[in-house]
Amino acid sequence: MSPRPRPELLEIAPYVGGESTLAGINRVHKLSSNEGAFGPPPAAQAAYAALAPELHRYPDGGAEALRRAIGTRFGLDPARIVCGAGSDELIGLLCQAYGGAGTELIMSAHGFLMYQIYGRAAGCRIVKTPERALTADVDAFLAAVSPATRLVFLANPNNPTGTMLPAAELRRLRAGLPADVLLVIDSAYAEYVERTDYEAGAALVDAGDNTVMTRTFSKVFGLGGLRLGWAYAPAAVIDVLNRIRAPFNANAAVQQAGIAALAEPGWVERARAHNTRWRAWLTEALTAVGLTVWPSEGNFVLADFADAERAMAADVFLRARGLIVRRVAAYGLPQSLRITVGTEEECGLVADALGAFMAGSHG
Ligand SMILES: *Cc1c(COP(=O)(O)O)cnc(C)c1O
Repeated sequence: MSPRPRPELLEIAPYVGGESTLAGINRVHKLSSNEGAFGPPPAAQAAYAALAPELHRYPDGGAEALRRAIGTRFGLDPARIVCGAGSDELIGLLCQAYGGAGTELIMSAHGFLMYQIYGRAAGCRIVKTPERALTADVDAFLAAVSPATRLVFLANPNNPTGTMLPAAELRRLRAGLPADVLLVIDSAYAEYVERTDYEAGAALVDAGDNTVMTRTFSKVFGLGGLRLGWAYAPAAVIDVLNRIRAPFNANAAVQQAGIAALAEPGWVERARAHNTRWRAWLTEALTAVGLTVWPSEGNFVLADFADAERAMAADVFLRARGLIVRRVAAYGLPQSLRITVGTEEECGLVADALGAFMAGSHG
């Protein structure tokens, strides 16, 4: 007899991150993980390096200074912020805290996969709702609610589709859900959204005791490798998260680097302006060569090749040119590839390569 895990855990397919190397190719452009086009902020790099002589010290378990800096930047009460090793960790803790055997977690058909992974790990049944034009549908969410529903997860904008719900729809969702259902709004890409009808979710958190907003330093702030995310939540939820999180889940380096990243002058504005410009350019260029590109509010686009084989062939074609993008078959989108908006040069390389691909025998 060997030790046996809970059987439902063996039904979880491990999350596969974006690849970063290609055998035999020196210059690789990684456009598979939405890491941002500019690397880590210089001030964050300096803060990280400066910490080296202090690495033997445990971090501040409460991440006080970092929470204060986040609170100041976003106009939020630091007492209602909790940091995590990426927002992924906080998503997992929320599932553990509010899910469990016999409960249901609702997410949209092409929602972020970590909700399903952590939900299953917590014992929840995952309920996936249909979308309209690859966009979460509030009516479908509300129709899926049952007495067992405890959690609703919505990435807004969503990864990998890039689509978003406007503030009014988000409010309609919250208003239509039972009061004891926790709504988690994952606003990982909030900084990239230009639409004026967008709301990251803080006001909805403030309006009640049953909504949480999660954010990350992995995208616009360029610190994916260090792992830092945060949640803004009602006091009772913060209390629960603080009881079950690892005591030092935000490490010493990321606390310093995170504070420095927030203080980097003009960083977010520059990244957003670059993204808006080159996302539009890339969308137009790929559309011009015959692809369907979904309108995206994030720092990536989802390109539809009409069938799975062609999408795979395009992926192989791009890899041979040192361009790594993301297959999204695991999301139920085998006919599509997700492409991060990189530098101007990288956008050009992707457009050229896919132009050549579509003009070839596949076009
Ligand atoms: C990238 C991403 C995250 C961030 O994950 P971290 O753990 O903070 O790196 C969260 N949600 C979505 C939808 C994402 O795409």
